[in-house]
Amino acid sequence: MFLGIDDTDSRTGMCTTYVGLRAILKLIDMGYDIIGYPNLVRLNPNVPWKTRGNGSVVIRFGVGKGSKLKIGEYEGESIFAYSHGSDDVKVKIESIAKHIERFFVLSDENTNPGMVLTSKKLPEWLYWKGVREILDLTMVEETLKKYNAKYIKYKLGRGIIGASCGIAWGKKRKTYELLTYTSSNYRFVDSDSVKEMDKAIKSTFDNYDYLNNYVAIMPNSATPVLYGIRGTIVEELVKAMSMIKSSEYNAYLIYETNQGTDDHLVRKKISEVKNYESVIVRGTVFSNPRRIVGGHVIFKIRDDTGVIECAAYEPTKQFRNVIEKLRIGDEVEVYGGIRGDRVTINIEKIKIMKVPEMREKLSNPVCPKCGRKMESVGRGKGYRCRKCGTRAGEDAAIYRIVPREIKTGFYEVPVIARRHLAEPLKLIKENIF
Ligand code: ATP
Repeated sequence: MFLGIDDTDSRTGMCTTYVGLRAILKLIDMGYDIIGYPNLVRLNPNVPWKTRGNGSVVIRFGVGKGSKLKIGEYEGESIFAYSHGSDDVKVKIESIAKHIERFFVLSDENTNPGMVLTSKKLPEWLYWKGVREILDLTMVEETLKKYNAKYIKYKLGRGIIGASCGIAWGKKRKTYELLTYTSSNYRFVDSDSVKEMDKAIKSTFDNYDYLNNYVAIMPNSATPVLYGIRGTIVEELVKAMSMIKSSEYNAYLIYETNQGTDDHLVRKKISEVKNYESVIVRGTVFSNPRRIVGGHVIFKIRDDTGVIECAAYEPTKQFRNVIEKLRIGDEVEVYGGIRGDRVTINIEKIKIMKVPEMREKLSNPVCPKCGRKMESVGRGKGYRCRKCGTRAGEDAAIYRIVPREIKTGFYEVPVIARRHLAEPLKLIKENIF
């Protein structure tokens, strides 16, 4: 059976992954086995109504078979799952709901939880739509009915969208995250230990931002999560956790996730780009970058279908310095999302494909016949000698090559500004997927 949960928390507290932990403990208590790692499935990062990272949680349970995996600990007791199993159990969604709904932050007007229970996996297209488009609640409900899935909506019940898309995730590309939890208000993570772990366990990523001295494993809003370590090799996460010096935690849980996979991105032509999507667009720089009020850097690119604005916003920090060095005529591939009324690509990373030589005119050409300085006929129209009438093209002038401060290659926003779904260059270079 697949249990999907979403939209349970608010900015003032809780976290859907913590509800996932409580659901796992309850399901084990009810006599069921957990099958595989629980899933933390990130969906469209541009949805306007997300709380933080637009993540839903999915737990598979039933009758366990195969080998036993340790997936976490709670109050010193190990939590186990089975490598595979059968879904042949009878359970009512209401009997699970009554134990976990007390962890939902229903008082927050933006929290609209949803739970989905199904023995059949939902179709994968639903995941791809959920991670790349905006879905309609009615369409999702109709799909759930077709698959005979049971669901509960709380308030608007929008959470069933994320819960269903999470169940539909086909895991073509996946990474892991180990999350530790605490109920204490005293929270501390030693930054030196994070740096040491980051250097020692190469399969982990986005732990520390060396440019901005920022510990990226710690959340910055109210939540039971103390820290989370992301990585590509699940077996190395517990070792990574043992290296972190921190305040106490009473539980940890390992999630299998689509974080760092770039699943949200679709290659598009400029005229096809729509709001609330994440895209890869190739084009030529059409207007030089300029820094506007607020520190954001804006420029435009063009392809054979149109022109689009791109932005490196202030939170992307040092990345803006790279963007500022682009010039009209450079060829780039922009990766990013569109969120808001203006169709502007919020850049996550950029591949600079071609940086043409730039030249600066020093003086007009000298007439090859009589040796006099020639004069310009008009902008872009070449030169003419006043004395003998000889004509010359634009290229005849005397130029200096201006050294470019930027090289071709892939550049990404620093860790502090990284999106959960964005594949870090580190993983791209290692050819992880
Ligand atoms: P947290 O990460 O802290 O759990 P969150 O950022 O995941 O919070 P939610 O509170 O879950 O944010 O809000 C996201 C809401 O958007 C959920 O109700 C979810 O069902 C819905 N949603 C997710 N993806 C889509 C989509 N593609 N189209 C429409 N709604 C979506």
